Amino acid sequence: MNAMTDHARIEALTFDLDDTLWDNRPVMEHAESTHYAWLDAALADWLGASPLGELFAEHDRYTQRFPLAAYIERRLALARRHPLRRGDFTWLRERALIELLEEYGLPRSAAHLWAAAAIGHFLTLRHTLTPYPEAIALLDALRPRYALAAITNGNADLKRLELAQHFPVVIAAGELLAPKPDARPFLAALARLRSTPARAMHVGDSWQEDVLPAWRLGMQIAWIDKHDECRAELPPGVHRLGHIRELAALLERLNDEC
Ligand SMILES: [Mg+2]
Repeated sequence: MNAMTDHARIEALTFDLDDTLWDNRPVMEHAESTHYAWLDAALADWLGASPLGELFAEHDRYTQRFPLAAYIERRLALARRHPLRRGDFTWLRERALIELLEEYGLPRSAAHLWAAAAIGHFLTLRHTLTPYPEAIALLDALRPRYALAAITNGNADLKRLELAQHFPVVIAAGELLAPKPDARPFLAALARLRSTPARAMHVGDSWQEDVLPAWRLGMQIAWIDKHDECRAELPPGVHRLGHIRELAALLERLNDEC
């Protein structure tokens, strides 16, 4: 089963978000280090003023005991232990923090509260992002002509972004416990758009999570080759773009050919 070479006119578009509509690496790097440093400082202040403080007087600071690398490693270990949750990044972060804070010595209730506070901080930072300047105008132009959906494994909550108004359908695949490359988020998006794979294109940057699953379903794909992988041969129906700004011209060309 693979993509057909003769495709019908494209009527529906599904979009990946991270690294497709914005450059996600600086956003995540900043959010990662900043929320963890915030937790360390806020926790030290709180312990200093709390009756628990005496118990922790001889303790190392939290991040001395569990540096950022230990938090990242704990999330990876949790994802291996809970494969269905591997795409639910907010859950993995919160679980990892609860475990580490309890191991640091906090009572369970305090570990839960501090983990939740740190996650809240992380999510605020994670949504402090700027889409590529061309993205908004592009979506504005596409909206009257195509049915649009967003499919993301990440924990970007579109409702917190101005971009939300462009996407009547949003599938948070990680939280559905069926992260891409699972076919289900694609099929769910297309069903809600009342479309079919043959009349739809997926737009995304990941070969494994965007291109392959959409191609296996028979969708066309606009592959944003952000990492310049430049594969020698592309399967039929896969179109390589260097940037989202090239999408409108591709759609025009493909639909002119139909
Ligand atoms: Mg992506």
